[in-house]
Amino acid sequence: MSTFNRLLVTGLPVVPKPLVGRVASRYVAGESLADAVRVVRNLNQQGAMGTIDVLGEEVKERDKALAAVEEYLQVFDTIAAEGLDSNVSIKPTLLGLKIDESFCRDNIERIVVKAKEHGNFVRIDMEDHTTTDATLRIYHELHARYGNVGVVLQAYMRRTLADIAALPKQGASVRICKGIYVEPRTIAWKGFETIQANYVRALEKLIENGVYPGIATHDEYLVNRAVGLIDKHGLWREQYEFQMLLGVDEELRRILIAGGHRLRVYVPYGRDWYPYSIRRLRENPEVARHVIRATLSGR
Ligand SMILES: Cc1cc2nc3c(=O)[nH]c(=O)nc-3n(C[C@H](O)[C@H](O)[C@H](O)COP(=O)(O)OP(=O)(O)OC[C@H]3O[C@@H](n4cnc5c(N)ncnc54)[C@H](O)[C@@H]3O)c2cc1C
Repeated sequence: MSTFNRLLVTGLPVVPKPLVGRVASRYVAGESLADAVRVVRNLNQQGAMGTIDVLGEEVKERDKALAAVEEYLQVFDTIAAEGLDSNVSIKPTLLGLKIDESFCRDNIERIVVKAKEHGNFVRIDMEDHTTTDATLRIYHELHARYGNVGVVLQAYMRRTLADIAALPKQGASVRICKGIYVEPRTIAWKGFETIQANYVRALEKLIENGVYPGIATHDEYLVNRAVGLIDKHGLWREQYEFQMLLGVDEELRRILIAGGHRLRVYVPYGRDWYPYSIRRLRENPEVARHVIRATLSGR
């Protein structure tokens, strides 16, 4: 990233919220579950699967975490009632991880049980490094008990290869992504190419260990390397999937689907869209540039 772009992105937190909302709306389905249903139905018609995420994180009050659980239970009923091809993604800190680990575990368990009733699946997102150990503990316990739950590992974390080695031997499903949080160099790789190299190593380890990989990236180099690994290891179509974010590189999405690969799109919705949108804007200095220009010109 250029110095100018870096300056732009670090200026993002001072941008007025309505403006961020206007530009960032490409990354979010809308504020209601009905918006997510509309977007997922549309994706399904284009040959893509969905994973629905209720926006929100870093919750400090039990009531808010419990309300999020209720919302997720409704999401599963709605996916079934509408006949959508979609699972869900959840963030532990929305479900109370920063309040109490066992409270969060119980909340996630309720969602996993509901998913099981519907023959569906829960993906636990990975947040910043302060949550990694607890998230993996909850994942391991619920996977052993129910099976229909997967986790996310981040290629920028130095620990990721060890975390892969510790995965369950049967039925593990892992989304591998680069990682989006700002982490200290002592625990995270920093170089762009170093992270790419660790991504490829991690993906190959997942495949060798018989883990179902969700290959989450829009980086064309990594997509190309992933296709090479799929080919090398002779995976069939149902043994992996690509994953992309709503609002990012729809052309690449279409190319992968046309190439016969399964692809899932991450579809966030809800009123708590600000932190998610800021993270997405940070990844994309071109959009950030428009936001800041509009701010400065008073539009
Ligand atoms: C389905 C999915 C789930 C994820 N879940 C998690 C998670 O649980 N935990 C976590 O830490 N991270 C998660 N991430 C984010 C991930 O870690 C990366 O930050 C993000 O995917 C960008 O990395 P990249 O591999 O696409 O490569 P990059 O090099 O960042 O991007 C490659 C290209 O994609 C395009 N692009 C990337 N981001 C944007 C954007 N926001 N807007 C417009 N264009 C863009 C650009 O053209 C860019 O050149 C997830 C990503 C995906 C796709």
